[in-house]
Amino acid sequence: MRDFTYQSLPMHVIFRSGSAADLRSELQKLGLSRVVVLSTPFEALLATQLSAPLEETCAGLYPKAAQHVPAEVAAEAWEFAQSVGADGFVTVGGGSSTGLGKAIALRSDLPVVSVPTTYAGSEMTTIWGTTENGEKKTGRDIRVLPKAVIYDPLLTLSLPTAISVTSGFNAIAHAVEGLYAPDASPITGLMAADGIRSLVQALPLIVEDNADIAARSDALYGAWLCGATLGATTMGLHHKLCHVLGGAFNMPHAETHTVVLPYVMRFNQSAALGQLQEATGFHDPAHGIRELSVVLGAPRSLRELGLTEDAIEQVVRLATASPYANPVPIEPSDVHRILSDAFDGTEV
Ligand code: NAD
Repeated sequence: MRDFTYQSLPMHVIFRSGSAADLRSELQKLGLSRVVVLSTPFEALLATQLSAPLEETCAGLYPKAAQHVPAEVAAEAWEFAQSVGADGFVTVGGGSSTGLGKAIALRSDLPVVSVPTTYAGSEMTTIWGTTENGEKKTGRDIRVLPKAVIYDPLLTLSLPTAISVTSGFNAIAHAVEGLYAPDASPITGLMAADGIRSLVQALPLIVEDNADIAARSDALYGAWLCGATLGATTMGLHHKLCHVLGGAFNMPHAETHTVVLPYVMRFNQSAALGQLQEATGFHDPAHGIRELSVVLGAPRSLRELGLTEDAIEQVVRLATASPYANPVPIEPSDVHRILSDAFDGTEV
């Protein structure tokens, strides 16, 4: 007998090569006439290009988004938005740009339209995060959910191969944890499985040819589904560890997810083995995901990413301090072993 609850999120999604050209009409549909376009400095040129056809609908650009959303950047962006009389925001870029839009939406209640260019998936969730004095605060709030998301695979062609790979594994991690989440449902199961399948198939093609637009489209589609799974379920040990590693040790987001995921899968995968086997196509999904990441040239260990061995104890302490959803009961010694293995990059 089926027994589940599922909360669908109110948002409009456009998925098409060239759909970035729809931005102006999407803003009109939402009744927006003075938006501020947010991006990181690196995506400033793209943000300028996308805002040109908006004409007077674009009240200004704020190209200073940064990873983990520093609180002072969010405050400055909001001040700028007020000074130009903004009535909404457009985020252009990866999770850093989207995160800034969410942080401002949280304090202003103004709507956000998102144009994602990585596979991080933040645009599909109500999860916000800001960092102040080295501490990352996160929460869920429906006000930060973008009103519309424009997925244009053409915008991902410039994403370097190495970032495409790690960003893809970041997305896969959302779906893996979604499959064994306490609030998983048949709907999230479908999204997660197809998200994993799409990315596992598309990433090798992107590594072969960075400009393979069909593979780019499949990867972005997979990222959407994985992000939607993240938005609809409660994450477990893997996301907790990556949250601590990112927040307290400033570890690079997508790369850290890529390294840690197979070790947590090894620990948790019995909780959703059949689904993971089917979605990944691997008899041993933890081993298969690790091998795939290595073959695609991803980083192999937390040591390689700059973590020092003495940090492991602290991560264990922080990660086990508050309880969270995980399908397999966790002891600090389990977390220690998982982190030590990920630190050394041992065979999975
Ligand atoms: P990011 O936005 O920093 O982008 C990663 C890198 O890719 C950057 O160097 C960026 O300049 C580059 N880049 C992005 N798009 C590009 C393009 N089209 N062409 C060339 N280069 C491009 O990082 P991310 O991995 O996308 O997101 C990570 C952040 O998002 C973290 O802060 C994480 O906490 C947050 N996040 C939040 C959620 C959520 O639900 N709230 C979900 C996932 C990630």
